[in-house]
Amino acid sequence: MSKILEIKDLNIGFNLSDGFRQAVYDVNFSLEKGETLAIVGESGCGKTISTLSILQLLPETAAIKKGEILFKGKNLLDLSQKQMQQIRGKKIALIPQDPMTSLNPLYTIGNQLLEVIELHQGLKGKEAEDVAIKALTRVKIPDAKEKMKAYPHEFSGGMKQRVIIAMALACHAEIIIADEPTTALDVTVQAQIMDILREIKNQEQLSVILITHDLGIVAQNADNVAVMYAGRIVEYAPVKKLFEDPKHPYTKALLNVILDINTDSVETIEGQPPSITDDISGCPFHPRCSQCMDICVQNNPKMSDIDGSIVACHLYD
Ligand code: SF4
Repeated sequence: MSKILEIKDLNIGFNLSDGFRQAVYDVNFSLEKGETLAIVGESGCGKTISTLSILQLLPETAAIKKGEILFKGKNLLDLSQKQMQQIRGKKIALIPQDPMTSLNPLYTIGNQLLEVIELHQGLKGKEAEDVAIKALTRVKIPDAKEKMKAYPHEFSGGMKQRVIIAMALACHAEIIIADEPTTALDVTVQAQIMDILREIKNQEQLSVILITHDLGIVAQNADNVAVMYAGRIVEYAPVKKLFEDPKHPYTKALLNVILDINTDSVETIEGQPPSITDDISGCPFHPRCSQCMDICVQNNPKMSDIDGSIVACHLYD
């Protein structure tokens, strides 16, 4: 497999009223053609902001301080907004948590699909319409030709997500960033959307970055997993390895949460993750870690390769 995306030493922060606050620290990961990489962690851990930076869709107050985002070897951070428009949607597509952030309520599904096909593929008229209908059919929207005339409000949440996937498909996107794509959906619809995404990914050899807090979805869909905590990747491993032999205490705690949900006893990880305005010393997980040692309070651990998992934890020094 060849690397399609490489994130190198990514550092992102926010300009707040009391100054610049760092939110993402030295994040590194890569994505191969056909690979699904899941990025997991609690809310505010930096998983969404790290991936939105790939598309240069960061909020105005955010700034990338350092790093490279290499798409097929080209640093996207060197591109102008105009050049990025050729990448965004066409080469790298976003499936957001709320599909209405991508769909315009005032236009029909057909109009919106045809617009992106015209913009990214240069097709018009019957040719564009055929591509649109084919894409809607592939995401299992029944009676696709008729549904082109519908407005987004006539579609359920799951159907809207299918339209967003169809848009990515119609533009021959090479990478899909799926940001909690099923959070707002009920369990049955969640499974249908993930099945469609997996099927299309396999057929098209797409690469997927899947941002989620749902480890069940990770287990079924990911090849590799990056676990983020307080803006850092703390463990990076193949999915099987992560579930069978988690190394980092935070990864173990996340897995315990899912196990407890399975036995109907809801348990969360004790304590709260640090906020962006907190000053952190030592390992950022140390206030919540049951295995905390003296060194953990003083020094932030470096990433090291432990039996094929990349881990940042002093237990493995
Ligand atoms: Fe826990 Fe120390 Fe490892 Fe941090 S470095 S996760 S505090 S054992």
